[in-house]
Amino acid sequence: MIVVMKPNCDPADQASVVARIRELGLTPHLSQGEYRTIIGAIGGATPEAMDQLDQLPGVDHVQRITAAYKLASREFHEADTVIDVRGLRIGGPHVHVIAGPCTIESRAMLFDAGRAVREAGATLLRGGAFKPRTSPYAFSGLGEEGLKLLKEAGDELGMATVTEVMDPRDVPLVARYADILQIGARNMQNYNLLLEVGRANKPVFLKRGFSATVSELLMSAEYILSQGNHKVMLCERGIRSFAEEVRFTLDLSSVPLIQEHSHLPVFVDPSHAAGKRDLVPALALAAVAAGASGVMIEVHGHPERALCDGPQAVLPKRFAEMMVQLRQIVHAIGKQMWPA
Ligand code: PEP
Ligand code: MN
Repeated sequence: MIVVMKPNCDPADQASVVARIRELGLTPHLSQGEYRTIIGAIGGATPEAMDQLDQLPGVDHVQRITAAYKLASREFHEADTVIDVRGLRIGGPHVHVIAGPCTIESRAMLFDAGRAVREAGATLLRGGAFKPRTSPYAFSGLGEEGLKLLKEAGDELGMATVTEVMDPRDVPLVARYADILQIGARNMQNYNLLLEVGRANKPVFLKRGFSATVSELLMSAEYILSQGNHKVMLCERGIRSFAEEVRFTLDLSSVPLIQEHSHLPVFVDPSHAAGKRDLVPALALAAVAAGASGVMIEVHGHPERALCDGPQAVLPKRFAEMMVQLRQIVHAIGKQMWPA
């Protein structure tokens, strides 16, 4: 349930409600709106508990959250969530581009790709150090060495960094180097991993599993939020369908659908969806036109030599051209490209 406080209520009243929620054996979560505070009480609301909370001073009304996800829902948090990452404001009216190689292969290639995407206007640098590969014999990343290179590149280029963590035991290690922890599509329902990143004090970039519904994606986000980490970004990256000409089918309907039901920023990754570099720019433009908070694009200076996902890597020159068009779309729909 949520306890909706009266506009500009007394902080002491708010504290009493939080204390009473705890006494009732529920967990309080605060959502501070511009005009009023909503306090989520998670853990099974009884009609008696709702009645009691309703009578406390400062309380406007108490209501059940109808969705199965609670903290991820718009009912709990009406306004768009805006997440601060190294001074970048992500979500709301802002649009960001995350770009970089699929995998960190070497210092030189990471810096080359990083410089190119930075120059074209990307604000966040991606690069995998722990790679989920379909084959156990494929290159699976440089591990900690890759994380060090990513941090160095991010610091030098003034970009925030995003990288995947696959194992709950690696969360502290990855959190030490990266600004944003990515949960890959294959781990969207790895609940122990979700709980672990929920306990980390780092923003999380949660990708939709390729056989997961939007509701399941939001339930996975709920796992992270339930641990007190409210800095969650979602990412549509394509789902399995009968269509075999593309790697996955990009489900752009998920963008407005998520925005209707959740306050969390939603990104789109057209690279893993398309699997072919020529399709990526058009899908990126469509994603932003559909209202995405940003896109994640794989870029490589020499895709023919890439150790992973070469066919979908966009060349730096094409990426820069795409960014020009992307800005026009952002402007046309009344949003702002970061930096403005
Ligand atoms: C990635 O972004 O590096 C990745 C592996 O993507 P996904 O988990 O969406 O397949
Ligand atoms: Mn990839």
